[in-house]
Amino acid sequence: MAEEITADVFPFDMSPMYEGERIRGEDMYVELAGPKGIGFEIVEAASMEEIEDYKVTLIGPDLEEMEEGARYPYAMVYRVAGEMVEKDLESVIERRNHEFQNFIQGYMHLNQRYDVWIRINKDAIKKGLKSLKQIAQATMFLFKQELPFIEKIEAIYITDEAEVEKRIPDAMKVYEERDARTRELSEEDVDTFYGCTLCQSFAPTNVCVITPDRVSLCGAMTWFDGRAAAKVDPEGPMKIIPKGELLNAEVGEYSGVNEAAVTLSGGEYDKIWLHSFMQHPHTSCGCFEVIGFYIPEVDGFGWVHRDFKGVTVNGLPFSTMAGQTGGGKQIPGFLGVGIEYFRSPKFLMADGGWNKIVWLPKSLKDRVQDAIPEDLVDKVATEEDTKDLDELKAFLKDKGHPVVATWVEEIPEEVPEEIPVPEAPAVTPTVPTPEMPTFMPTMPTVPTGMPVAGGTVRLVLKGAKIHIDKVIVKRETK
Ligand code: SF4
Repeated sequence: MAEEITADVFPFDMSPMYEGERIRGEDMYVELAGPKGIGFEIVEAASMEEIEDYKVTLIGPDLEEMEEGARYPYAMVYRVAGEMVEKDLESVIERRNHEFQNFIQGYMHLNQRYDVWIRINKDAIKKGLKSLKQIAQATMFLFKQELPFIEKIEAIYITDEAEVEKRIPDAMKVYEERDARTRELSEEDVDTFYGCTLCQSFAPTNVCVITPDRVSLCGAMTWFDGRAAAKVDPEGPMKIIPKGELLNAEVGEYSGVNEAAVTLSGGEYDKIWLHSFMQHPHTSCGCFEVIGFYIPEVDGFGWVHRDFKGVTVNGLPFSTMAGQTGGGKQIPGFLGVGIEYFRSPKFLMADGGWNKIVWLPKSLKDRVQDAIPEDLVDKVATEEDTKDLDELKAFLKDKGHPVVATWVEEIPEEVPEEIPVPEAPAVTPTVPTPEMPTFMPTMPTVPTGMPVAGGTVRLVLKGAKIHIDKVIVKRETK
């Protein structure tokens, strides 16, 4: 069967030019997995005897049985074999599913692992796409074309909800085992880091730097995966980055990373501080598992992951902040990371690490609880503790969060007749002045009650971006 597969047997084009194609809700025939559904993708290495090349098994309804405009669960399992195929390569091959499926015209693949999100365009159906088996075969064709060390491959696609649900725990166990491998290794132990450019089709200046202390922001590539990918596919998207000289141990600045930042970003950046949130931070494409956001009102950082459906403590949901964080830019004040980075001993060490973390969704906090220093576990708020910034401030004070000690005093009760309003907010960060993003999130409503003799002046800022050098408030004489 392998010899019979050629690109012209499929009723759709396949080319890198379709990467980056977005399918809007009104154009979509069906959505598979995604933020409102369930699904995953996984690659398993097997022996040559175990694999029937190009075999596809579909468990659950196929495209023709699906209702237009509806959403279905979706798991994609690939079993691969070849003389050079080994377990270390599973995640490397798995991550390329994102790239190769996006070569298919009318098919959009986003994210990775248990976060996959697929849409199929109505036009693809009109042109003759009838079955997910065609998608599976086209993807396997691309895998074998682009990664010739794969000698045999078969696919199991699942759209049956019960079957996807049943298999998710096993997949999660595999992801966890992969992540755990790098926990014993640190940047000091190696001479080489890895830089991934796979997502430059969506975010042209994005440069993912992967070190033993910093998993990729998609969470799917560890340092070991980078090493394996660069070895088997030296011309592929994973590049070797010689570590070079350690320029600043406090922030994770290496000469080799700075040089790679210039080369891989096409000259857009010349500096990346690996463990910094506010200055020369790592770029973020759009595949991040978690978004971090600076909260100037408390001089701390909040985090939100894809699965969190509500609004965060700053009033914004994941989706809004994802738009501001992604695109392959360095955005001081926003940062995309992989969940495993929370366990890094170098986690945001340039900015105070865990001592600056003030808010997480409960489900994310539970997931990374083992990484939170014991004395901070009860001091980091979740949506169950605080709903807005006022409640957050009160919570942090009440719990004695270390960030509170960095706050300067609030505006005094007694005010002179002519009050120069301070330029800084009531709570002033003591971190180095960040290069704040030009598109800081608009807080939904941040009322600032300013006590003055004889009453209160209340300023309500809605949807505003305001820069004020100085405000003078004068008492009116009658
Ligand atoms: S997020 Fe980074 S590491 Fe992950 S696939 Fe994209 S470029 Fe590569």
